[in-house]
Amino acid sequence: MTQWVYNFGKTGTDGDASRRNLLGGKGANLAEMSGIGLPVPPGFTLSTDVCTHFYDHDKTYPDTLDQQVREAIAKIESETGTRFADSANPLLVSVRSGARASMPGMMDTVLNLGLNDVTVVGLASRANDARFAYDSYRRFIQMYSDVVMEVDHGLFEDALEDMKLQRGVYEDTELTGDDLKALVASYKDIVQDEAGTGFPQDPWEQLWGAIGAVFASWMNTRAITYRRLNNIPVAWGTAINIQAMVFGNMGDDCATGVAFTRDPSTGENNFYGEFLINAQGEDVVAGIRTPLPLTVAARKKGGGEALSMQEAMPAAFDQLDAVRKKLEAHYRDMQDLEFTVQQGVLYMLQTRSGKRTAEAALRMAVEMADEGLITRDEALCRVDPNALDQLLHPTLDPNAEKVILARGLPASPGAACGKIVLNADRAEEMAAGGEVVILVRLETSPEDIHGMHAAAGILTARGGMTSHAAVVARGMGRACVSGASDVRFDEVSGKVFIADQVLVEGDIITIDGTSGEVYAGKVDMIQPKMSGAFASVMGWADEVRRMEVRTNAETPTEARVALDFGAQGIGLCRTEHMFFDADRIIAMRQMIMAADTEGRELALAKLLPMQRRDFEELFTIMAGLPVTIRLLDPPLHEFLPHSADELAEVAAAAGVTIETARQRSVKLAETNPMLGHRGCRLAVTYPEICRMQARAIFEAACAVAKNTGESPVPEVMVPLAATAREIALCKAEIDAAAAAVMAETGVTISYLVGTMVELPRASICAADLAVEAEFFSFGTNDLTQTSLGISRDDAGSFLHDYADKEIYPVDPFVSIDLEGVGSLVEMGVERGRKSRPDIKLGICGEHGGDGDSILFFEKVGLDYVSCSPYRVPAARLAAAQATIKTRQTD
Ligand code: PEP
Ligand code: MG
Repeated sequence: MTQWVYNFGKTGTDGDASRRNLLGGKGANLAEMSGIGLPVPPGFTLSTDVCTHFYDHDKTYPDTLDQQVREAIAKIESETGTRFADSANPLLVSVRSGARASMPGMMDTVLNLGLNDVTVVGLASRANDARFAYDSYRRFIQMYSDVVMEVDHGLFEDALEDMKLQRGVYEDTELTGDDLKALVASYKDIVQDEAGTGFPQDPWEQLWGAIGAVFASWMNTRAITYRRLNNIPVAWGTAINIQAMVFGNMGDDCATGVAFTRDPSTGENNFYGEFLINAQGEDVVAGIRTPLPLTVAARKKGGGEALSMQEAMPAAFDQLDAVRKKLEAHYRDMQDLEFTVQQGVLYMLQTRSGKRTAEAALRMAVEMADEGLITRDEALCRVDPNALDQLLHPTLDPNAEKVILARGLPASPGAACGKIVLNADRAEEMAAGGEVVILVRLETSPEDIHGMHAAAGILTARGGMTSHAAVVARGMGRACVSGASDVRFDEVSGKVFIADQVLVEGDIITIDGTSGEVYAGKVDMIQPKMSGAFASVMGWADEVRRMEVRTNAETPTEARVALDFGAQGIGLCRTEHMFFDADRIIAMRQMIMAADTEGRELALAKLLPMQRRDFEELFTIMAGLPVTIRLLDPPLHEFLPHSADELAEVAAAAGVTIETARQRSVKLAETNPMLGHRGCRLAVTYPEICRMQARAIFEAACAVAKNTGESPVPEVMVPLAATAREIALCKAEIDAAAAAVMAETGVTISYLVGTMVELPRASICAADLAVEAEFFSFGTNDLTQTSLGISRDDAGSFLHDYADKEIYPVDPFVSIDLEGVGSLVEMGVERGRKSRPDIKLGICGEHGGDGDSILFFEKVGLDYVSCSPYRVPAARLAAAQATIKTRQTD
């Protein structure tokens, strides 16, 4: 018989942390905690296979599931001494989703299941607390009706508010047992009115209703969006955990909270978290009551008066602190915990590897390695290279003029400045239109994630450090200030009131997620300094990695930034980008539009000194490191004049009439410029262009060698070649220019001539190309475009459908399409090496900065990756991880 149900608890645990794919993250870790003797309320997990069966069989269950669930419930009953549906001593359970990858808040949960008009009386007498029992019942009705019966939860909120108003009280906790009993009656009326049927009284019916709803929530819109953003395949499915309820809201010796074994913002080795006395879990995350710190130290640091957990319930705190230590030693990583204290006894409800800021990830990795908890290789693999981005973003200039509007919690570090938007859809819309926006909300919920993703920063009026906004923003690397209670809203008029200011959509604010402050207007920012941990990790990465990391840069600023970030040379200097400046583009256009060689030579003569100066600067900055200069590769449409003014300028520069210039422009216009007269095809038609560039390169190199004594290492790159003959033609021009310049200057420098591999034919015929080319640099942007037949410029309008339908689960222009483009790269490497064993191999497409792609480039044995300057640190780390992972699989 297939096992669909896996138990955990004192009387037997079937799973462990290694069975994450089957049991989901939560289920696997509950089993693991149970297995190592931690206090976990008993329960069981419906495996992800049940979810797969559910969706494969028209939302029905395997035949034997009912029997397995009954047996598992019986097991909980015997461990807890309660009985499901029992009027005197009822078992109540929670029903929670739990996928393989954490999807916080994206799917549904039902708590207190098993309550009905009869069992509530039993619970009241068992707990000796009618208020507690009816509070639990009304919460259950609200949650179940929302999740399973699709009754708008706002109706229940309204009824609760009405009741508080009637009784003249402010807090939920001030309502009496009788008030809550009356509230239960009105909740049941709401259900009857809205759903057209009464609230189900049979706990078994409730259980199957909840199971069905939680499985169904795998396909709700927010879960689908979250999966898309986080590359989680739909086929994984979710598991469901059904567990005996423990109550943090049974009185003042009860509490509930969340904790991190180290500080998830800074990485400091401090126990960090929040708790609430006499509350249920959702109260902590929902931000309705402000949670309190766990430790005395944290309370003092925050300047709060209300007692920390360490002071208010020292015995339970000590139990929790012991669990903290045991869990960190066991998992060898920072854990994110959920716990409940019921009548002084601690219960663990969840543990998982905690999300952390990039700063915290670095600090923890380094400190854990120094403590001997993990190895240096493990430390390197603990830091997500893409998250390093967060550290490279600007922070506020401390000397800048600032007008502070409000203060909140420093929920996710970094500063952001942008236009206010008040809802997620507008954030997405405005960001798509190129605006930088700050999403301002009362509090965020999972429905807001697309807007949070689109925004540069997030500001909320409510919520603690573990609220949805804080957790999600940290994960996404967005700056976030949460719980800024001075921020008020008027949803109807679309106004935000902060201090004495009235702001509307489009007004600019600046938020500082590191200090929790909110400022009016734009505040100056400065580039960050790298922390000590950053330097340690980068140093360790450099010791480990095999591949070199270069940068794609054409301006001196880019080259300097990249050098500071540790680039070991320039892997791609796109010379056409050196002509975008207003004063240069005219000469460039003149050159492109020249009708004959003479006209072209005239324009080239203007371009030569500009190029030479540029190259001199780059060679000087890179001081002896290799500099790969690519011959012109202008997709013509980017350079042709568009407006009448531009036409007039070019005509004047070339000394022709506007009409002649217009006709030439029409003649040059191409139907498909990306596959048109670009790359080395330009040099084939007009060798004088290649000649000018080669001369500029070698004049610059020889001048720098003479002036600085440092020998530049030019690597001249022929773009978009498909044949060896194209390279040979260009190479003849390059070699001739090199020889001439060296003879003229009396300076000798070494250089290489190579090609970009960015067409399928180039990969297929790599053995031929390598006869001419001394190096290959894979241009995976064009190689992706040409092998998939998808235009780089047009992909954005439909590629998301390809991601949604998992045709290309990840955008192939971001992370390399392993099977297709990857195979072409592999073929190019093998065939190139066959005819030239010492050929130098690199990659300079956007994939050169992407972690997964870098792992692949390591496996195929490239010598270097090249990426944009700000991605250099991420690439250094990813290259080290790739070396470690490749070593492990060898
Ligand atoms: C490429 O095609 O991968 C490349 C680096 O060149 P470009 O993006 O300039 O076409
Ligand atoms: Mg290209």
